[in-house]
Amino acid sequence: MTRRVFNFSAGPAVLPEPVLRQAAAEMLDWQGTGMSVMEMSHRGREFMSIHARALADLRELMAIPPEYKVLFLQGGGLGENAIVPMNLMGPKGLADIVVTGQWSAKSAKEAARYGRVNVVADAARAGRGYTFVPPQSEWALSKDASYLHVCTNETIDGVEFDGPPAQGDGPGEVPAGVPIVADVSSHILSRAIDVSRYGCLFGGAQKNIGPAGLTLVIIREDLLGHAHPMTPSVFDYKLVADNDSMYNTPPTYAIYLSGLVFQWLRAQGGVAGIEARNVEKAALLYGAIDASGLFENRVERRWRSRMNVPFFLKDERLNDAFLAGAKDAGLEQLKGHRSVGGMRASIYNAMPVEGVRALVGYMQDFERRHG
Ligand SMILES: *Cc1c(COP(=O)(O)O)cnc(C)c1O
Repeated sequence: MTRRVFNFSAGPAVLPEPVLRQAAAEMLDWQGTGMSVMEMSHRGREFMSIHARALADLRELMAIPPEYKVLFLQGGGLGENAIVPMNLMGPKGLADIVVTGQWSAKSAKEAARYGRVNVVADAARAGRGYTFVPPQSEWALSKDASYLHVCTNETIDGVEFDGPPAQGDGPGEVPAGVPIVADVSSHILSRAIDVSRYGCLFGGAQKNIGPAGLTLVIIREDLLGHAHPMTPSVFDYKLVADNDSMYNTPPTYAIYLSGLVFQWLRAQGGVAGIEARNVEKAALLYGAIDASGLFENRVERRWRSRMNVPFFLKDERLNDAFLAGAKDAGLEQLKGHRSVGGMRASIYNAMPVEGVRALVGYMQDFERRHG
């Protein structure tokens, strides 16, 4: 008997069960080819069709405008922390970065190896930890930055932007000529994202899309072709774009599986359909936390992530008992990030609402017994 748990891992994370079943059914013989997708040449007709379909489905799901290229790379989100500056710093050599949590803090550190970094705001300076996005009116933006970097969903701290930064010629706005780069690793495809407001979006697939190994980059065409000469060819966005992400061997199986997830998403009503469910799931979980006397979430309401919900037991001595009981109830991977402690429930697209209901039910039961 196959046993499936509700898996709240922050990443690699839960995948839709129908996708895993289809991949299993096609494992030995993909559509009569007598081969696994893993065994195919990336330049063969079969894989090219898988690649093209995944790309087309993603473009449709995110309504990606034609002047943007979609790149399928390797190297993960952290790889992009170096690859983005190598490609986008250019002669200005200055990255503006908003620090709203541990991932953007890492991005700032890495970018500093490739040019100057101006931390335009750092939420931690307020002394309340990473619990909010500093108001844009307080950002110390440069006029002539190569780009502005934001992490629009902080996976560890559970802080999420509710829209793109304002850009224009008004006071406090990101200057019109400065492209906005967003690390969307952990909320891509979970909500509507207006791609046209960004110069570049990137994310590892293993949070909200597919298996680890695939990194997505969505980039406006005019930003291509400015890579530092030391940039490895396989990470030069222009070279990769000119070769349709086939400059070298792409992560073929991860692309195939992600493609199946895109098809599954389309069947869920696309991003709008899944976003409605994500809103419902997040409301259920935060509602239960706020109504409880035992559990708490410390992020300001406006900035609470719909995807990653860190929470704490007010009596930390109960942590181990909480996790053990959760495991017995088939609720897995709830332990918080080691740097934060407490608990974290990641409720990505593939987490069914039943999983959130089961977690809420368990939390209420636990509080009755221990609260
Ligand atoms: C997980 C994560 C990363 C790092 O991804 P890797 O694939 O491990 O390099 C970067 N940014 C965000 C927001 C993440 O959630």
